[in-house]
Amino acid sequence: MHLSTKILIGMAAGVLVGTLLNVASGESGSFLANLSAWLVNSLFDVVGSIFIASLKLLVVPLVFVSLVCGSSAMGLDARMGHMAAKTLGLYLVTTAVAVTLALLVANVIDPGVGIEMDTAAEFDPGPAPSVKEVLIDIFPTNPVKAMVEGNMLQIIVFSILMGVAMTHSGEPGRKALDLFRSFNEVIMTMVTFLMHIAPYGVFCLLAKIFSELGLGALLDLAKYFVTVVLVLLLHGLGVYGLLLKLFAGLSPLTFFKNVRPALLFAFSTASSNATIPVTMNVAEKRLGIDNSVASFTIPLGATVNMDGTAIMQGVATVFIAQAFDVDISLGGYLAVIATATLASVGTAGVPGVGLITLSMVLQQVGLPVEGIALIIGVDRLLDMMRTSVNVTGDCVVSTVVAHGEGLLNRDIYDEVSDRDAYVPETRS
Ligand code: ASP
Repeated sequence: MHLSTKILIGMAAGVLVGTLLNVASGESGSFLANLSAWLVNSLFDVVGSIFIASLKLLVVPLVFVSLVCGSSAMGLDARMGHMAAKTLGLYLVTTAVAVTLALLVANVIDPGVGIEMDTAAEFDPGPAPSVKEVLIDIFPTNPVKAMVEGNMLQIIVFSILMGVAMTHSGEPGRKALDLFRSFNEVIMTMVTFLMHIAPYGVFCLLAKIFSELGLGALLDLAKYFVTVVLVLLLHGLGVYGLLLKLFAGLSPLTFFKNVRPALLFAFSTASSNATIPVTMNVAEKRLGIDNSVASFTIPLGATVNMDGTAIMQGVATVFIAQAFDVDISLGGYLAVIATATLASVGTAGVPGVGLITLSMVLQQVGLPVEGIALIIGVDRLLDMMRTSVNVTGDCVVSTVVAHGEGLLNRDIYDEVSDRDAYVPETRS
């Protein structure tokens, strides 16, 4: 059986077991409730947390080593600048399209009309960074600190500098690069090790999450929930499909089949960042994107590109405005599009960060931040879904950019692989 099939089974079993436990734990103090609490806290939580920790463990070394190799292959010439500008441009444009779509659909469905406002709702978003801070913060003062903190944009800047410097350092540069290339292979192999425990890891993660989901909240917020899911599907299948077809002449169906492992991981972890090792593997080994492109676009996308998050924010803004009976002007909507697009830049792709940046969007149009408390109940589930769209978006843009640069291997892309992404390359 292929690993991706095993992972799917692990996910389905996790959802099932979690939901059963959720129902079983209804009567507190009963035998079933105690058993359920033990399973969730002593087994699923432990295994799930170790699994996530092992994924995160690989992110910084993989991005650093891989991007040094990638940027040294590109060199600091016009091509590198062209690729970077195109990637960033596409990331911003797709996010703006996503939030616009969300605003349009939400205004048709009107998810917040008739919602009873609970004025006791509370939500403290904490301080949001200013644009100036975000910009300055891209440049590291200390690479080790950037790595310790997992600051992706700073790691990207440092890795590119180092990779480019290697190509300009003659023989010593070549020797250093050889070492990095070897390390890159070793870390990729570590990723493949991890994949083998993935079915059990995702089972535990999902069993825990679903055992704790308040399904009551889902009923109250059904209209909001359905609107977000609908726009996620429209964008994820429609807009991305069109982009692949129109800009690169590629088959969207093949793309979606190939990208599946990254989607499953994104859904299970609700973190674009933790998914980076898998996304990178999928990008190179299943989509055929050259390392010199993927090593830059994937980690950048995990930080900068959050289409799914922007969609949630667009729908949430309309929902909260309607619940509080506030009218948003056309100018207000434009401000929402701009803020939601820019808000995702510089915030790491970790679970729940979309709610924090939503507070920036709400403040921009003068809506009460406490409104966020209204939608918290269903956010975890939506987080998993929007993270899948975020990661798909990273892969779509990377594919289009690689195609434009002539760095997409069509043989790998078209061969909807029976092999799993994580089977290490056989080397002679
Ligand atoms: N969890 C999302 C991600 O990692 C961000 C969010 O929407 O909260 O991409």
